[in-house]
Amino acid sequence: MASLCGRIVLAAAKRNVTYTPVRFCKMMNDPIEHATGIEKRELLAKQAGNPDPFDMRVFKRGPGTKDSPNLIPSAFDARLVGCVCEEDQTYVQWMWLYQGQPKRCECGHWFKLVEKAPV
Ligand SMILES: [Zn+2]
Repeated sequence: MASLCGRIVLAAAKRNVTYTPVRFCKMMNDPIEHATGIEKRELLAKQAGNPDPFDMRVFKRGPGTKDSPNLIPSAFDARLVGCVCEEDQTYVQWMWLYQGQPKRCECGHWFKLVEKAPV
């Protein structure tokens, strides 16, 4: 927003426009006022202090045994999970995880889907 206002001020100064850019910037609304639906819920969750409401961050694997699998949150019955099995691996091993069905990756780590409240 600040860079946009700066660009508007510079463009107005170059063109010798008579309107005042500060007034124009005050007229622009906050993006949260324009957002609707899932985007608005995402912005509200971020505003409430949750920077990753959809759990899209990269998870560090734990022990990943059958008794204590890596827990993957999901608001749905299934989720696509990628595992970088070896540290220097050049591809991601993708697999579908389903509710109530822990799954073992080719590298031996176990993953389990846990229910999460939707955003
Ligand atoms: Zn793996």
